[in-house]
Amino acid sequence: SLFEYAPAPESRSVVDIAPSYGLFIDGEFTEAADGKVFKTLLPSSEEVLAEVARAGAADVDRAVKAARKAFEKWSALPGSERAKYLFRIARIIQERSRELAVLETLDNGKPIKETRDADLPLVAAHFFYYAGWADKLDHAGYGANPRPLGVAGQVIPWNFPLLMLAWKIAPALATGNTVVLKPAETTPLSALFFADICRQAGLPKGVVNILTGHGDAGAALVEHPDVNKVAFTGSTAVGKAIARQIAGTDKKVTLELGGKGANIVFDDAPIDQAVEGIVNGVFFNQGQVCCAGSRLLVQESIHDELLDSLKRRLSTLRLGDPLDKNTDIGAINSAAQLARITALAETGEAEGAERWSPACELPSVGYWFAPTLFTNVTQAHTVARDEIFGPVLSVLTFRTPDEAVAKANNSQYGLSAGIWTEKGSRILAVAGKLRAGVVWANTFNKFDPTSPFGGYKESGFGREGGRHGLEGYLDV
Ligand code: NAD
Repeated sequence: SLFEYAPAPESRSVVDIAPSYGLFIDGEFTEAADGKVFKTLLPSSEEVLAEVARAGAADVDRAVKAARKAFEKWSALPGSERAKYLFRIARIIQERSRELAVLETLDNGKPIKETRDADLPLVAAHFFYYAGWADKLDHAGYGANPRPLGVAGQVIPWNFPLLMLAWKIAPALATGNTVVLKPAETTPLSALFFADICRQAGLPKGVVNILTGHGDAGAALVEHPDVNKVAFTGSTAVGKAIARQIAGTDKKVTLELGGKGANIVFDDAPIDQAVEGIVNGVFFNQGQVCCAGSRLLVQESIHDELLDSLKRRLSTLRLGDPLDKNTDIGAINSAAQLARITALAETGEAEGAERWSPACELPSVGYWFAPTLFTNVTQAHTVARDEIFGPVLSVLTFRTPDEAVAKANNSQYGLSAGIWTEKGSRILAVAGKLRAGVVWANTFNKFDPTSPFGGYKESGFGREGGRHGLEGYLDV
């Protein structure tokens, strides 16, 4: 069934992509001080989408100075005034959501179905939600005079470029902070379109600054002495480096890092529903999701039945053009990520786990990886331990709820988990023992701006989303 559809794809012409883009500093688009640029590619075809300015330390300094200057006025505005800007931004995002969804799909490689139905609605929802908080902070049980921290230096990854931006920028602005944000080097475009939206909304200059660039720009931002708060989402390795880098300073930090989520299916779960949840858990966004349910823990008595159903379902997934509305599996974001996934899958095979994929012809150009299952997996296998950040599911079994909990918690990570069972009492009992920042029951990968999100253990600390998401940007 792969490639059997040839419907009209969503049109690229919906979005007007310029050949080159500058940094967004103090309300203006500008070249990097040293004139450096880099290219961003279309992951599905490897063609160049645009050339983008590459920020260096001098640009970081300019942007932080602009944010510091803007902070004086922005933080002094009544919350109701800040709310007006955030509501305006939220509405413009809705108005431009088709354009932004196509842009995000082009730059990231994820299916249009996802950017249209998940990413963009959630991006707008976060701005609406935090707009609602801006004028209520004094009355929300924080004690007297909650104060913004100052300039927030924010570094985000490429898997949900605009959504991660919303998670960072919306609460920071609502609480009266100003922002310098660095998007990931493989997905810089939607953040620059967001800069344009800030101008359209009349946001005062310097409140939001966007620095496109590589890890060195991120490191310079983290290190800048006039940055008061560091908010990072990305790999655990870089998160640890950042924690070391800011140790001994007075900067506040929140880290949202990697995961190896356990999706636990008990023998009383409705199989069809569980199969949908498993597929959504680890094949959504090609598995490039920090909270992916990348470890399936299935009760031994239903292992064979569940695996049969799962394989049948995986055989119906359509891999291909991300702009095609029927595509389920799009392109992997970059050559580097594809190489990481490929290497980990090869390790899985070499260590003796059994590898399976549906019959699937991959396009000859672009970055693609077929949906993959590993069975006969033990807890010692690399594919059961390391975050793969790709469309790869490792299947383990358990006999009792206690064994399920022990195996789920046997991880350096603790970001997400799922439980599938008809028994409400079991959901509560098991969820209470899981060391994970979010536990879904009979669903997976559900997001909502009112819910805090974040990790236990090496998945990081601090929470984003909900009332708790404000706390990382306030002194009380
Ligand atoms: P990454 O850590 O390599 O990069 C993330 C961002 O950090 C990029 O913008 C990058 O340019 C920047 N960066 C790189 N080195 C830096 C440094 N030394 N100092 C400051 N910034 C630096 O991660 P990635 O490969 O882009 O993203 C995948 C990882 O992100 C996965 O491990 C995934 O689990 C994690 N992630 C976590 C969450 C979450 O909310 N917990 C969400 C999405 C992704």
